[in-house]
Amino acid sequence: MKEKFAKFMAGRYGTDRLNQFMLIVLLVCAVINMFIRNGYVSILLTSWEILLIVFIYIRMFSRNITKRYAENQKYLTVENKVRHFFGQKKYIQQQRKDHHIYTCPNCKQKIRIPKGKGKVSVRCPKCGTEFVKNS
Ligand SMILES: [Zn+2]
Repeated sequence: MKEKFAKFMAGRYGTDRLNQFMLIVLLVCAVINMFIRNGYVSILLTSWEILLIVFIYIRMFSRNITKRYAENQKYLTVENKVRHFFGQKKYIQQQRKDHHIYTCPNCKQKIRIPKGKGKVSVRCPKCGTEFVKNS
């Protein structure tokens, strides 16, 4: 059985990140669908699930590896952008927690000052303007 499957899969694309992602979306849709009582939404979700299954299978068994690879690369680019976006948000939130972010009155440069140090004299690293702030 295993051998037969390996033979069948030879020269075919198999799975990748895009397929994994579609599988996750499929599972999420299926779970949501279990709790949906609205007939129209349920039908919509079911059609979406079928579409995803079809896409996953088409890509898995495809012999056009170059094309599938390119699709996956496109997906990875988008995924990276999304990851970067949320990563930056998290970073800013973390900085907010134990830093004040001040804006230089002269050049509008954003300056990060640790919290809880009382009155501090801040020197702008960009233009050299000094100003006093409560941290
Ligand atoms: Zn400045």
